[in-house]
Amino acid sequence: MITGKNYIGSKISAEGNVTYTTINPKLNTENEWTFTEATASEVDDAATLATEAFAIYKQKTDAERALFLRQIGVEIEALGQELIDTYTTESGLPEGRAQGERGRTIGQLNAFAALLEQGDWVQATLDLAEPNRSPAPKPDLRKMQIAIGPVAVFGASNFPFAFSTAGGDTASALASGCPVIVKSHPMHAATGELVSLAIIKAAQKAGMPEGVFSNLNSKGIAVGEQLVKHPAIKGVGFTGSIKAGKALCEIAANREEPIPVYAEMGSINPVVMLPEALKKNGEFWAQKYAASINMGAGQFCTNPGLILGVASAELDTFGKHLASYLDEQAASCMLHPNILSAYETGKQKMLDASSTEVLAVKLATEGANDAKPTLVKVSGDAFLENTELHNEVFGPFSMLVTCDSQAQLVEVLNQLEGQLTGSLIGETTEVAKYNDVVDALRSRVGRMLFNGVPTGVEVCPAMHHGGPFPASSDSKFTSVGNDAIYRWVRPVSYQDWPQELLPAALQDKNPLGIFRKVNGTYSNS
Ligand code: NAP
Repeated sequence: MITGKNYIGSKISAEGNVTYTTINPKLNTENEWTFTEATASEVDDAATLATEAFAIYKQKTDAERALFLRQIGVEIEALGQELIDTYTTESGLPEGRAQGERGRTIGQLNAFAALLEQGDWVQATLDLAEPNRSPAPKPDLRKMQIAIGPVAVFGASNFPFAFSTAGGDTASALASGCPVIVKSHPMHAATGELVSLAIIKAAQKAGMPEGVFSNLNSKGIAVGEQLVKHPAIKGVGFTGSIKAGKALCEIAANREEPIPVYAEMGSINPVVMLPEALKKNGEFWAQKYAASINMGAGQFCTNPGLILGVASAELDTFGKHLASYLDEQAASCMLHPNILSAYETGKQKMLDASSTEVLAVKLATEGANDAKPTLVKVSGDAFLENTELHNEVFGPFSMLVTCDSQAQLVEVLNQLEGQLTGSLIGETTEVAKYNDVVDALRSRVGRMLFNGVPTGVEVCPAMHHGGPFPASSDSKFTSVGNDAIYRWVRPVSYQDWPQELLPAALQDKNPLGIFRKVNGTYSNS
């Protein structure tokens, strides 16, 4: 079933002569499939076809697009065990994770379908005409969101389902009315191809235009660069490294017509430990955080890579407990030998820094690409002095920073780059003494957790998965949850248009029965 070829709409294409394979990181062997890198003309074909598809796709009703999204979920489910086996073979992640992530991916598609079925997402706003207003009549203005056009999506290495081919970027873009071209992630190209087949089948069954979805193979950066530069592409979704995310933002900004890139990049997700909580439940939190640091071999954008507190006997004891629980964690396989070697290099830099003290570094591993969970400790002074210590080490790594005072804790937080999450571990009764800490934490992050671990991102409308740079390229937008759709739309106002020529969402009679803001008041009548 896996061809290793590119899908330009439903057309199978392999013009090029550059090929590559994926790796089974558990066995450290090459997998059986060979993928053909997309050529420049195939990229162009996919982009041109996506533009043609857009003309038809944007006319589809919300209900029709909802059916398409639900059908994608059905087709993904129908791939059954082959898809799960391909995922585990290419990622080294366990079967339970594959099943859970598949469920989440289908859940995301269905959540966007439900959003479309409800219809309010277009944010219809009506300010009715006042022809007799003095000194000048007020025109009739009606605003709603419309799709921007074809979107390029870069599959992420660390979520072969939920942030890749049919992941949140694709689901939200298709929901909004934008065709999608996926630049498949080269570490899990076979998984990507199977999911692409599900999307293409669903498009055919749901009567969607040819080219509403394409999947391009690529192991180098040329295909991605060409896609972002292509005049047909109107937006980009990306999850990965800061280096790649910034490169794509730069390319997009330098186009003749600049376009938005919604890149989700690095985050070390600071956690602040308050003293009463440490006294009461220090060991409990050490156990919880050891599991969170090592979850999925630490390959989560919300991995807690930085734990902060004011120096105390309780913080020292917490550090010891955290180290010993981390030592008890089983080492697990990373996604790819390259990800492991990036982890080892990044970790070694932290270990080599003269100011760091090693609290835990697991030595025993079993598999070829197993990552050793590691915890280091550093003083607040040293952390402030050496900004290299602020860098993300992607994997099961964390750093405990002991500050000499509450004021220094605030200074450290103020110096951090933007983050996806910030966690506060505290007793409710002590928080009032730390308002400056809470305020500093909030100014750096997109999601504030109280007495919890940041790993595990709920998919729901109130989720915000984004944050100040470099957590994401635009902190106003989320890549998880229903609001992710707003990355792929723009508002348009209709002034003085006759009823029969207005989109249904803006007509007086409100034929869709959606909630709208009419003259400043929400109503669905
Ligand atoms: P990556 O290096 O950022 O690559 C992601 C995708 O972007 C790949 O498809 C890659 O293509 C492409 N790409 C890279 N540089 C590009 C450029 N200059 N122009 C156009 N396209 C470019 O991420 P990765 O391979 O998934 O993992 C590498 C590291 O990224 C990890 O070790 C980790 O540090 C970080 N990462 C972070 C997160 C997070 O959520 N914070 C998630 C995943 C990865 P090719 O692979 O074909 O070159």
